[in-house]
Order: sequence, then structure tokens, then C-alpha cells
Amino acid sequence: MTPAPVNPSQSVLLPTYARAPIALERGEGAWVVASDGQRYLDFGAGIAVNALGHAHPHLIQALTEQASRIWHTSNLYSMPEGERLARRLCEATFAERAFFTNSGAEANECAIKMARKYHAAKGHPERYRIITFEGAFHGRTLATIAAGGQQKYIDGFGPKVDGFDQVPFDDVAALKAAIGPETAALMIEPIQGEGGLRSAPVRFLKLLRELCDTHGLMLIFDEIQTGVGRTGKFFSYELSGVAPDIMAIAKGIGGGFPMGACLATEEAASGMTLGTHGTTFGGNPLAMAVGNAVLDVVLAPGFLDHVQQISLRLRQSLAQLRDHHPDVISEIRGEGLMIGLKLNTPNTDFVVEARAAGLLVVAAGDNVVRLLPPLIITEADAAEAIVRLERAAQAVEATLKRPAAE
Ligand code: PLP
Repeated sequence: MTPAPVNPSQSVLLPTYARAPIALERGEGAWVVASDGQRYLDFGAGIAVNALGHAHPHLIQALTEQASRIWHTSNLYSMPEGERLARRLCEATFAERAFFTNSGAEANECAIKMARKYHAAKGHPERYRIITFEGAFHGRTLATIAAGGQQKYIDGFGPKVDGFDQVPFDDVAALKAAIGPETAALMIEPIQGEGGLRSAPVRFLKLLRELCDTHGLMLIFDEIQTGVGRTGKFFSYELSGVAPDIMAIAKGIGGGFPMGACLATEEAASGMTLGTHGTTFGGNPLAMAVGNAVLDVVLAPGFLDHVQQISLRLRQSLAQLRDHHPDVISEIRGEGLMIGLKLNTPNTDFVVEARAAGLLVVAAGDNVVRLLPPLIITEADAAEAIVRLERAAQAVEATLKRPAAE
């Protein structure tokens, strides 16, 4: 049994998170139960991670079967399950090569190193700079905070890692002006997650591809949040038809088991030769077993159709919710089951009210609340989420109507 939530003043964990005062003890499908018995509809899914919800029987089977055989071997030996997962990911995408990691940030680190090494191996080590976009989030390692460019994550951690040039999102002139003889790559989230569910317009993504082709640059997509069915496509780049050279994935691919991957074309990966990169845990047999099990479900016929259909229903209801509560909700954003409610009132208040109504949602930048439910949600789950969102919107609205003196 999970113990009750720890009072933050008594915690010995680094106080880097403002944790909600609930401890989740177990889950089933789209539902979780806290240590006090309270049930929540989980529309956060561990920040877009539990793609198949909680306690999915196929994932439990894959993990426990693997756990009873062997947990860890290292990359010093052949990894049949990793080879299989890599091949399946390549067959289902633009990619021809894969490297497994333990997290999203590490997948991005691999992508950044690969883009730089590509040029170095071709005799151009001076081409190491990567252009990124305002509002981006690429992780919390030293290189990925520099790539994300958000000052609040950079300040106080010593000199910012060199080699990242940031331009405003969807600003063609600034982007063209930033490309120089040292540029190695352009790096973008096709839909910004932490940044507030901002979708890069298709024409902008097409322009990025054209610029990369013209200038010999690598195009890196960070699909850590958008990937593995989240947008109704296996990867969101399929929505635009613009394929990258390198793509970082994580979150949903492990369904809750920590893992990520860097996928690339043969050409983009050509500099990553023997000994150029490594990891102790990446590609671990437990992770590979779960990753393969996630693909069994996500790539099964009809699964992504389900995501698209349920997304459509949810959005229709959300549009009505916005119409009923224009003082609270101003806009519905996103794709598939990566949905953002842009608010007129503080998003953190809405997250608290939603939790009080028994619904878990996640705040994002630009005053957005994210709905990131497990991809297996039923029509009944979607309908129930709308009821609870309605309650949250009413509660927020009530605070607006209170006299200021109260
Ligand atoms: N990139 C994107 C788009 C993300 O959403 C995240 C995590 O939220 C990351 C990178 C970092 O992933 P991780 O926290 O697994 O290192």
C-alpha cells in the first residue's frame, strides 16, 4: 500500500517540484486511486506517458515475463528484443537507425550529438550550431536547457552550453537570417508541449525541410511528447508529410517504463560510428520488452483510428464547454489526444479545481491546461471528463463573480 502523501516540509527530496498533495496508489485504464481512496480520471497520464493507461494486461505480461528471465545485460552483448523494437520503429517511420535511451532529454542529447557529428565526419567540425525556437522545451540536461532556451531553466547553472541559436516560433525572416556557415541543424517540436500546445503550421514545417535541403542541414524533430499515437498518427510528422532526418522519442513508447530513442536516417547517423556514443541502461531488456508490447497495441489495425475518433468527440464537447464558459476558456488547441485549453484565468487554479472535481490535468506554458489522456480512453471516460471539466470551469467562474473584497 502506498503511504499517505508526505508533507513538503518533511520531505528530503529536492524541493524542485510543487507536488500536489495526493499519492497515487494504483490505476486501471484511465483511472487512478489515491492513498485516501479518492478516484481520479487521469487526463494527465504522467505527462503524456501512460499511452495505454494503467495496468494494461499486455504490458504487465510483457514486463513480468521479461522480469522473470533477465533484467539487465548492458550493451556489451547482442540485444535481440532491442533489435526487434528498433526494426519495428524503423519500418513504421522514415528512420533507418535507432539508439535507445532512458529519457527524453537523453534522446535529444543523442540527436544533438548526431547532427554535430554528421558534419564533423564530413570534414566540417565548424558546423555545430543548432537553431531552435522560442517556447521550446527539450529537457533538463545542460545541453537541452540551452536548446530550449528558457532563461528560468538556464540561470545559475554556469555558462550556457554553446551552439544554440534561438529564433521566434514561425518567424521565417528570423530563421533565414540565423542560418550561417556554422549551422548544423534545425530542431523543433512539431507541436510545442510544455510551451502551450502551439502547433507549427504545415507551411512552416515544409519551409524547414526546404531550408535544410538547400543548406545541407539536419532537420531534428523532438516528438517526445507528440509521438506514439498521441496526435492520432503514429508520429505527428505524418500530419504534415514533412519527415525529419533525426527524431527524438520517449514518453509513450515505454507506456510508463522509462525509455526513449533517437531515430535517424542512415545518412544522418553516418557519423555515429563505433565508440562515439553509449549508455549503460539504454536498451535494457525490461524497457525493450515493454516497448515492443506498446507497439503491439498502438500499431494494431484500428488503434489510431480510435484515437482520432475519440479526439473528435472530445473536441466537439470542448468547443461547447468553451462557448458556455468564455470568461474561463478562450481557445482549444492541439491534435488528437494532445489537447490544450487556453485560459483567460490562471491555469494553475483550473488544475486545482479539476483535481477537486476528480480529474487530473496538467498545466503548460502560455496559460494553457493540457488534456493528455491515455490513448485507450472510452467514450464514457471522455463524457465523464467533460462533466468534471464543466464543474472545474464553474468553480473558477464562481471565483470571478465574487466581490473583490471577499
Ligand atoms: N522534449 C519534450 C518535447 C518534452 O515534452 C520533454 C518532457 O516533457 C522532454 C523533451 C524531456 O523529456 P524527459 O523529461 O524524459 O527527459
